[in-house]
Amino acid sequence: KKTIAGTYKTDSERSFVMIKPDGVSRQLVGKIVSRFEERGYKLVAIKTVTPSEDLAKEHYSDLAARPFYPGLVKYITSGTPVVAMVWEGKDVIKQGRRIVGATNPLDADPGSVRGQYAVSVGRNLIHASDSFEAATKEIGLWFKQAELSDYEPVAWPWVMADN
Ligand code: GDP
Ligand code: MG
Repeated sequence: KKTIAGTYKTDSERSFVMIKPDGVSRQLVGKIVSRFEERGYKLVAIKTVTPSEDLAKEHYSDLAARPFYPGLVKYITSGTPVVAMVWEGKDVIKQGRRIVGATNPLDADPGSVRGQYAVSVGRNLIHASDSFEAATKEIGLWFKQAELSDYEPVAWPWVMADN
């Protein structure tokens, strides 16, 4: 698309990002949302969900054989809600992982969400899709098509222009 700000591609990618129960309980939602907003990403969907055991198990189905899986499912289904979101923009899957930081907060960059706010791998505050395939699965699992908003933020051309 050609605009006064420059030319940009309109087919940017989407990532599923979830603030886990500890992030909600610790009232870090605004700070976390701000990181994605301030980077220039577009909020496509957001809602609180108190996940069922089935939903948590399906979300983490790839990890079913890992020793921490039962504890992980318990953590996500604590009864405190999570904040489920879809963010859109250039390289948002890879950049979302960088904003979130390494799985173990001990290895997370201090500028990342986990590196700034978490100390334990079992309570690491946030999830972000790690690939296009995972993002597609996770967005479909947590959201209905009608919950995904289609609009253009006013700053979008300035954020997205790549020429
Ligand atoms: P992520 O993509 O960075 O979230 O990491 P993974 O997909 O490998 O694991 C999913 C989630 O499982 C992590 O975010 C942690 O909440 C949890 N997890 C992963 N590894 C461990 C572990 O060794 N111990 C515990 N207690 N939880 C873990
Ligand atoms: Mg993962």
